[in-house]
Amino acid sequence: MTSPDTNHPRDFQSLPLEPALLKNLEDLGYERLTEIQAAALPAIVEGRDVIGQAKTGSGKTVAFGLGLLHKLRVERFRVQSLVLCPTRELADQVARELRKLARAIHNIKILTLCGGMPFGPQIGSLKHGAHIVVGTPGRIEDHLRKGNLDLSNVETLVLDEADRMLDMGFQAVLDQILAELPQQRQTLLFSATYPKTIDALANRVLREPVKVEVAAGH
Ligand code: ADP
Ligand code: MG
Repeated sequence: MTSPDTNHPRDFQSLPLEPALLKNLEDLGYERLTEIQAAALPAIVEGRDVIGQAKTGSGKTVAFGLGLLHKLRVERFRVQSLVLCPTRELADQVARELRKLARAIHNIKILTLCGGMPFGPQIGSLKHGAHIVVGTPGRIEDHLRKGNLDLSNVETLVLDEADRMLDMGFQAVLDQILAELPQQRQTLLFSATYPKTIDALANRVLREPVKVEVAAGH
């Protein structure tokens, strides 16, 4: 098909990431960047807003995960990153991958907040604090409304599988969450498809985004 873009890095070691993060990637056996990672990571690490479109299984979690972890300051024990996913299963998957990527970062706390789970333990965990929250929009909004969750220090917002979140009718809930986030932040939007509704969401929520698209089959 098309030849690889030679401007894109091919291996993780060529990215400007902390040595500890790079060493951990090596330990995990991640050597070569996938297409979406190669195309998106330079802009993500630079702090740009990014729209990433690529099919399922293309490695989008590592793309935004490294961006979050690169920026995270573990000594500031506040929620610095929020990752929104359409379902509990996807949120759990993302949290698992983030925990693997974050193994090199001592004392990092990654919390999942999803619907269908009891409130009590989630409230307890929130009292202890977290650096990264991964969850589904409904439950996140619920915790916000009840005053359990402070998102005023969020520096990176990830909308993962944004097309599915809109399909599931989360638009209004997303707007309520967005209203609680600082204007000054990095926003990363990932989607397998790019219908007009996603374009409209991106135009409202992202600032001068870099759009990265990996064609099906890559
Ligand atoms: P997506 O979100 O695009 O559907 P995932 O982020 O869930 O894809 O990644 C799919 C799988 O690929 C995961 O098991 C992940 O660990 C693996 N993976 C991601 N990036 C790499 C890489 N650079 N090298 C090897 N495996 C990778
Ligand atoms: Mg994914």
